[in-house]
Amino acid sequence: MRALVLSRGPLALAVALFLAQACGGGGDASSPLPSETGDSGAEDATAPDAGQPPDSALADQQGPDVAPDATADAGQPDAAGDVAVDQGASVDAPEDGEAGADSAQPGVGCATGQYQAYFGDLHAHTSYSDGQQTPADAFAYARDVAGLDIMVVTDHLEQLYWVPPVDRWGECRSQADAANQPGSFLADCGFEYGSGFILPTFQSTGHNNVFFSPSLFPAVQTDFHDFYGSLAGCSSCIGQFNHPGDGAQQTWNDFEYRADVDENMNLFEFNGGGDVWPLFIQALDAGWHVSPMMNQDNHSADWGTANDNRSGLFMSELTRTALYEAMKSRRTFMTEDKNASIRLMANDVCWMGSMLQGYGSLTLSVMADDADAGDGFDAIELYGPGGTMLGTVACNGQQSCAASFPETVSGSVWYVARARQSDGDLLVSAPIWAQP
Ligand SMILES: [Zn+2]
Ligand SMILES: [Zn+2]
Repeated sequence: MRALVLSRGPLALAVALFLAQACGGGGDASSPLPSETGDSGAEDATAPDAGQPPDSALADQQGPDVAPDATADAGQPDAAGDVAVDQGASVDAPEDGEAGADSAQPGVGCATGQYQAYFGDLHAHTSYSDGQQTPADAFAYARDVAGLDIMVVTDHLEQLYWVPPVDRWGECRSQADAANQPGSFLADCGFEYGSGFILPTFQSTGHNNVFFSPSLFPAVQTDFHDFYGSLAGCSSCIGQFNHPGDGAQQTWNDFEYRADVDENMNLFEFNGGGDVWPLFIQALDAGWHVSPMMNQDNHSADWGTANDNRSGLFMSELTRTALYEAMKSRRTFMTEDKNASIRLMANDVCWMGSMLQGYGSLTLSVMADDADAGDGFDAIELYGPGGTMLGTVACNGQQSCAASFPETVSGSVWYVARARQSDGDLLVSAPIWAQP
């Protein structure tokens, strides 16, 4: 939530630029992408744009078709076959003929698979920038006290360059490697870029988290377009719009769209200033392919316990490789409840995050779940371009609520589901994009 405003005289700029040369250039030699063991230093990444997917598991995530296995088993009713209209639903299920026709000719872009929801906090600070304690403390606290599945420390980029000769970025990554336990707890480090300080008012046009970068971006960039360039030039990087609307200026010039940046800008935080929902609509309508996150942006030693905000990620397993794949496939959701989930599917098999082409009609299915007795849902809603509500289904306080919406695809559209719990907590699914 906190906007970082740094005092930057000419000397500070010079120091930062020097450090950008010294540390950002060849100083960071750790592997850019998911490694489950501490193999820092094994590879020689030399520049922010040097990131290459390290293995075949990630190689197929590159390119315009983000859906990972769109052609492998599209149309097979194996995944999420339990999505169904529940007894409380007021929207009719699609007629068999329509669903059958779509299943027989699935078009392209249908991302299928078997995944489960994991919960994390992927935006947090330590004393390595303007927070408290160390990344190692954050990982231990998030795991042992908060009970998170995933903790990613993202200190401010500018401050990671300060205090030579300590390599705080490298230290964070070493501590993450030590805490990372594939299958039980996922620890990693990213960084938060505070882009676009508009002289002379020093208003920021926005902050962005960067995940899976091989090295720090340059510390000093004068405009968010420079940041866009760095992100577009880093093939392994995943970007996130941080706390949109936290300050009137933090909308990236009304979500100015750039297609080459869209490839790597995959995530959108709902923790921000005021009502973030209209800003999410604005970003989607502008063309961004982003999915919701809900983090805590901790500046105190309360990683995971500051509130019940959680980012939800549907992953094949609890590993960095699976995290990268889920982020890149935009298979995420936001929740204000610490263990509630929401899932949007098309035709029962195409996961949220899919970018469908060749679909004249679709059945959008939504499932919302909360493991806690008495923590039920009021309603599920489906939205489309312009924030138009396409349908709503009453949940009558049920812990598990499903809904199904038949839709005709007549142009380039997106769909997003929301669920509201009886206690007021909001959940937002990833979008599904479609065109006939
Ligand atoms: Zn920030
Ligand atoms: Zn922050």
